[in-house]
Amino acid sequence: MPLAISYEAWRNYIKAKEGAKQKILDERQQRKNQIAKRKEDQAKKKLEMVKRREAFREKRKQKKNKIQCAECQDELISDVEEDDLKNIGCNGCPRWYHLKRTTECGKSYVDVAIEKYVCHLCINEKD
Ligand SMILES: [Zn+2]
Ligand SMILES: [Zn+2]
Repeated sequence: MPLAISYEAWRNYIKAKEGAKQKILDERQQRKNQIAKRKEDQAKKKLEMVKRREAFREKRKQKKNKIQCAECQDELISDVEEDDLKNIGCNGCPRWYHLKRTTECGKSYVDVAIEKYVCHLCINEKD
Protein backbone atom coordinates (compact mmCIF):
# COMPACT_ATOMS: atom_id res chain seq x y z
CA MET A 1 0.00 0.00 0.00
CA PRO A 2 2.03 2.94 -1.27
CA LEU A 3 -0.40 5.45 0.17
CA ALA A 4 -0.03 4.06 3.68
CA ILE A 5 3.74 3.99 3.37
CA SER A 6 3.88 7.51 2.12
CA TYR A 7 1.56 8.60 4.93
CA GLU A 8 3.80 6.85 7.41
CA ALA A 9 6.81 8.50 5.82
CA TRP A 10 5.05 11.88 5.97
CA ARG A 11 4.24 11.38 9.60
CA ASN A 12 7.82 10.48 10.38
CA TYR A 13 9.00 13.49 8.44
CA ILE A 14 6.70 15.82 10.40
CA LYS A 15 7.68 14.17 13.63
CA ALA A 16 11.37 14.60 12.85
CA LYS A 17 10.79 18.20 11.85
CA GLU A 18 8.87 18.92 15.04
CA GLY A 19 11.48 17.09 17.03
CA ALA A 20 14.22 19.23 15.51
CA LYS A 21 12.19 22.36 16.18
CA GLN A 22 11.59 21.31 19.77
CA LYS A 23 15.27 20.53 20.17
CA ILE A 24 16.18 24.04 19.01
CA LEU A 25 13.61 25.51 21.38
CA ASP A 26 14.91 23.38 24.24
CA GLU A 27 18.47 24.38 23.53
CA ARG A 28 17.47 28.02 23.37
CA GLN A 29 15.67 27.69 26.72
CA GLN A 30 18.68 25.91 28.20
CA ARG A 31 20.96 28.69 27.06
CA LYS A 32 18.58 31.26 28.53
CA ASN A 33 18.57 29.37 31.82
CA GLN A 34 22.35 29.21 31.82
CA ILE A 35 22.65 32.94 31.21
CA ALA A 36 20.08 33.67 33.92
CA LYS A 37 21.97 31.43 36.34
CA ARG A 38 25.27 33.02 35.48
CA LYS A 39 23.77 36.46 36.04
CA GLU A 40 22.36 35.31 39.36
CA ASP A 41 25.73 33.91 40.40
CA GLN A 42 27.45 37.12 39.41
CA ALA A 43 24.95 39.16 41.39
CA LYS A 44 25.49 36.91 44.40
CA LYS A 45 29.27 37.22 44.10
CA LYS A 46 28.98 40.97 43.79
CA LEU A 47 26.81 41.17 46.89
CA GLU A 48 29.27 38.99 48.79
CA MET A 49 32.13 41.21 47.71
CA VAL A 50 30.27 44.36 48.78
CA LYS A 51 29.53 42.77 52.16
CA ARG A 52 33.13 41.69 52.59
CA ARG A 53 34.37 45.15 51.67
CA GLU A 54 31.98 46.73 54.16
CA ALA A 55 33.12 44.37 56.89
CA PHE A 56 36.73 45.18 56.09
CA ARG A 57 36.02 48.90 56.17
CA GLU A 58 34.22 48.55 59.50
CA LYS A 59 37.15 46.63 60.95
CA ARG A 60 39.60 49.24 59.76
CA LYS A 61 37.45 52.00 61.25
CA GLN A 62 37.45 50.26 64.61
CA LYS A 63 41.19 49.83 64.40
CA LYS A 64 41.61 53.52 63.61
CA ASN A 65 39.65 54.53 66.67
CA LYS A 66 42.21 52.83 68.86
CA ILE A 67 45.44 54.69 69.18
CA GLN A 68 48.25 52.41 68.17
CA CYS A 69 51.95 52.71 68.68
CA ALA A 70 53.40 53.48 65.25
CA GLU A 71 56.38 51.28 66.07
CA CYS A 72 55.02 48.08 67.64
CA GLN A 73 51.31 48.47 66.57
CA ASP A 74 50.14 47.70 70.10
CA GLU A 75 47.35 49.76 71.55
CA LEU A 76 48.43 52.77 73.52
CA ILE A 77 46.89 53.07 76.95
CA SER A 78 46.72 56.54 78.39
CA ASP A 79 46.78 55.75 82.09
CA VAL A 80 49.89 53.69 82.70
CA GLU A 81 52.33 54.06 85.56
CA GLU A 82 55.64 53.21 83.90
CA ASP A 83 57.21 56.03 81.92
CA ASP A 84 58.41 53.78 79.12
CA LEU A 85 54.87 52.59 78.40
CA LYS A 86 53.43 56.09 78.21
CA ASN A 87 52.41 57.60 74.88
CA ILE A 88 54.49 60.22 73.24
CA GLY A 89 53.12 62.04 70.20
CA CYS A 90 55.44 63.19 67.44
CA ASN A 91 55.47 66.95 66.85
CA GLY A 92 56.20 66.50 63.16
CA CYS A 93 53.52 63.93 62.23
CA PRO A 94 50.33 62.43 63.70
CA ARG A 95 52.12 59.29 64.97
CA TRP A 96 52.10 58.15 68.55
CA TYR A 97 54.62 55.84 70.23
CA HIS A 98 55.36 54.03 73.41
CA LEU A 99 58.15 56.00 74.97
CA LYS A 100 60.25 52.83 75.12
CA ARG A 101 59.96 52.46 71.32
CA THR A 102 61.44 55.87 70.65
CA THR A 103 65.00 57.16 70.62
CA GLU A 104 64.11 58.82 73.95
CA CYS A 105 63.80 55.42 75.62
CA GLY A 106 65.15 55.57 79.17
CA LYS A 107 64.46 59.24 79.71
CA SER A 108 61.72 60.41 82.00
CA TYR A 109 58.38 60.96 80.30
CA VAL A 110 58.04 64.53 81.53
CA ASP A 111 61.43 65.47 80.08
CA VAL A 112 60.57 64.05 76.66
CA ALA A 113 57.12 65.67 76.68
CA ILE A 114 58.66 69.07 77.35
CA GLU A 115 61.31 68.61 74.67
CA LYS A 116 58.82 68.46 71.77
CA TYR A 117 59.55 64.96 70.61
CA VAL A 118 60.12 64.31 66.89
CA CYS A 119 60.06 60.67 65.76
CA HIS A 120 62.81 58.89 63.82
CA LEU A 121 60.62 58.80 60.67
CA CYS A 122 60.35 62.57 60.65
CA ILE A 123 64.07 62.95 61.34
CA ASN A 124 64.86 60.60 58.44
CA GLU A 125 62.57 62.56 56.15
CA LYS A 126 64.47 65.77 56.89
CA ASP A 127 67.79 64.24 55.84
ZN1 LIG B 1 54.92 50.42 71.02
ZN1 LIG C 1 56.98 61.91 63.29
